Amino acid sequence: MSHTHDIIVTGLGPAGAMAGATLARAGAKVLILAGQPGHVKPCGGCLSRRWDWLLRELGLPAWVWRHPVRRLWLAAPLQPPVHWQSREVGAYLVDRARFNQALAQAALEAGAEVIQARAREALPRPGGFAVKSRVGDFSCGWLVAASGAGGAQALGLVPPQIGLLYRAIVEERPLPARLEPIMRDAALIELGGVPGGYGWAFARGDTLNLGMGFWQGNGGPGGYSESTAGLARAYQKFIKRHGLEPAHGWRGWVIPCPDGKPPQVVSGRACLAGDAAATGDPFLGEGMGQALYSGRLAAQAILAGDLGQYQARMGGLWREHRHGRLLARLIYGWPGLFQRLAQARPGAVELGFNVLRGELAQAGIWRALGAKLKGREPALDLQARGYYSKHLN
Ligand SMILES: Cc1cc2nc3c(=O)[nH]c(=O)nc-3n(C[C@H](O)[C@H](O)[C@H](O)COP(=O)(O)OP(=O)(O)OC[C@H]3O[C@@H](n4cnc5c(N)ncnc54)[C@H](O)[C@@H]3O)c2cc1C
Repeated sequence: MSHTHDIIVTGLGPAGAMAGATLARAGAKVLILAGQPGHVKPCGGCLSRRWDWLLRELGLPAWVWRHPVRRLWLAAPLQPPVHWQSREVGAYLVDRARFNQALAQAALEAGAEVIQARAREALPRPGGFAVKSRVGDFSCGWLVAASGAGGAQALGLVPPQIGLLYRAIVEERPLPARLEPIMRDAALIELGGVPGGYGWAFARGDTLNLGMGFWQGNGGPGGYSESTAGLARAYQKFIKRHGLEPAHGWRGWVIPCPDGKPPQVVSGRACLAGDAAATGDPFLGEGMGQALYSGRLAAQAILAGDLGQYQARMGGLWREHRHGRLLARLIYGWPGLFQRLAQARPGAVELGFNVLRGELAQAGIWRALGAKLKGREPALDLQARGYYSKHLN
């Protein structure tokens, strides 16, 4: 059967851009249905360095690395904050709308065709799929659903099993001048202001990105059952504690995270990638790098003609997430205890930076913590690409 395209990718966020660019660079005829024009994803814009290698592989412009995070303020209500300056940058802060434009540009330059329309339905056909959209119907041999949280259901595909939903709200405002020296190159994380989650403040140049999120769902760390309205109330208290004006608007959405079992992300000649596949990190609530990673693996498996490879190679990420879930349970479940530990041994905060830089796997944090508590330095992977590029798959 002849198709209009070899592969159709739905969605042009990190997962869709990475899948589309990887496939197109290898010479495949790729169509990306990019969804509605003008949609800006609510996001903290924090990219941990463990995914740097993927950003470089995509050829993203230098401004992506302009706003580094080298310091952390770890706060908790009614307790003095812990300040930690790391030996190196742990993450970068990006303007999410601009970041998505750069991703789209990378996919186009790689040779993918991009149409600004939503896929309405994906219907299985012999040897592939028929995909319907407002601008016409297309057909393909392989389908990558990278259309974000709920993306699988919307296309009539089988959704992944989601154990945890990270529900978060975010807003941006000008950075008050008095906070500039405190927040330059720094991130603030506040534990304990919302059960089972955290509040954040990221300064990106003269912009302050503020938000709060918590985990909801089976066995979630906090068991917080309130809705987004409850989260918004906790958020207003959070910014008041830090001397900021009340928020007049915020935007919110969810990040699906896997539960204990590895989600099924492949079905015949279709696969899910990024948030559609529940790849969010259940410890940090980070999802952009994980989406890039899964998009890349999905593309490589399609190029090899065997999507089973994608399901198998995602095992490394799911293993990381199992440990991430446990870390989340401990830290967000016992925020006061964790904050006191950080006060007593601030050097242990460096382990978080080691994870952000990909020098240490989340799975390796327990042994590293043991070493720190015995006064020894943990074994790290200090090579440029670190743990995430070399050992994850
Ligand atoms: C409040 C908040 C803060 C966050 N902060 C961070 C952070 O600081 N760092 C971090 O790494 N992650 C963060 N995340 C998570 C991160 O935004 C996501 O994990 C990441 O965007 C997932 O990428 P994706 O490509 O899978 O999906 P998305 O980025 O959601 O992209 C999916 C795209 O598909 C499009 N689409 C939807 N339906 C269709 C359709 N039917 N057809 C075609 N296209 C469609 C959408 O319009 C969208 O453009 C945050 C999330 C939230 C909600």
